[in-house]
Amino acid sequence: MSFGQHPIGRRKLLMGAAALGAGVTQIGRGDAAWAVGAGRRPTATASRSVGPYDVIALYDATGPFFTTRQDAFPAATDADWQRARRLDPGAFGPDDGWNLDFRCYAVRRPTGRYVLVDTGVGPAGSPASSWAPVPGHLPERLAEAGIDPADIDTVVLTHVHGDHIGWSVTPAGVPVFGNARYVVQHAEIAALEAAGSGLVAYLIEPLRRTGQLHEVTGRTALFGAGPAGRYGGQVTVLPTPGHTPGHQSVLVAHDRRQLVVTGDLLVHAVQLVNPDVGYRYEDDQEVARRSRRALLAEAGEHSAVLATAHLKQPFVAAHRP
Ligand SMILES: [Zn+2]
Repeated sequence: MSFGQHPIGRRKLLMGAAALGAGVTQIGRGDAAWAVGAGRRPTATASRSVGPYDVIALYDATGPFFTTRQDAFPAATDADWQRARRLDPGAFGPDDGWNLDFRCYAVRRPTGRYVLVDTGVGPAGSPASSWAPVPGHLPERLAEAGIDPADIDTVVLTHVHGDHIGWSVTPAGVPVFGNARYVVQHAEIAALEAAGSGLVAYLIEPLRRTGQLHEVTGRTALFGAGPAGRYGGQVTVLPTPGHTPGHQSVLVAHDRRQLVVTGDLLVHAVQLVNPDVGYRYEDDQEVARRSRRALLAEAGEHSAVLATAHLKQPFVAAHRP
């Protein structure tokens, strides 16, 4: 599957999203897209437990990136690539290519309700359509995992790029998860508005209209607030800016166990083996580098598991930088 003929940067993608919306089929909970998984044999689902929480990987799409890996990560050395290849061999395609998955995660809480972290590339006609392998398969994956979309009461968007917000609202502007608040950093929304991004009209305004937009500033406990939390654990968003101004990660913690859903804090294993390696499409590579180094150092101290959006495996150990 190809990302299309032209190398379209994410910045350009954000600006182009305003053109979308009219005349595209609405996809909602009651529509056919949600029924795709019904009647299918459930497939094995990768998950990790952290105390009372289960973190479930939901694979939305896969494909080759639209440019070579050296072009995407210009500072990476041969030694960096060799170490990265040992860690995530599936990411290495022919001709210096980069194969990546597009993944979301659901965090099942003891109440049986879920936090969904990111919503993938989305349906045909979603903002990622110009470069990502749409349609994604998140609705089928939720069905296979036995997750009723009505039980998702919180959606965390790590950041507002097309490949992370795709199933948040339909192209007609209806929130896909009707019972959920959508947690976005205030800095992310402010930057989109300042840039005149089309994703304000596509995503932010529909969520504001229905009262489902939940803006947060900085580190914010979503569940289990307090030292131990009601169930002895916590789900917390952490600001990890750089990839975008309001990028956030999600920490799931219980006792001494930690799992971090990292969004695009790192997009390739080469940034895990060497956190100083920048990614061409980071909004601010120096800020991104500092966020990556700080989070990976902290995660390494706690022997945390990382749940990444784009590596070819859903869960990897945090390596000490
Ligand atoms: Zn991404």
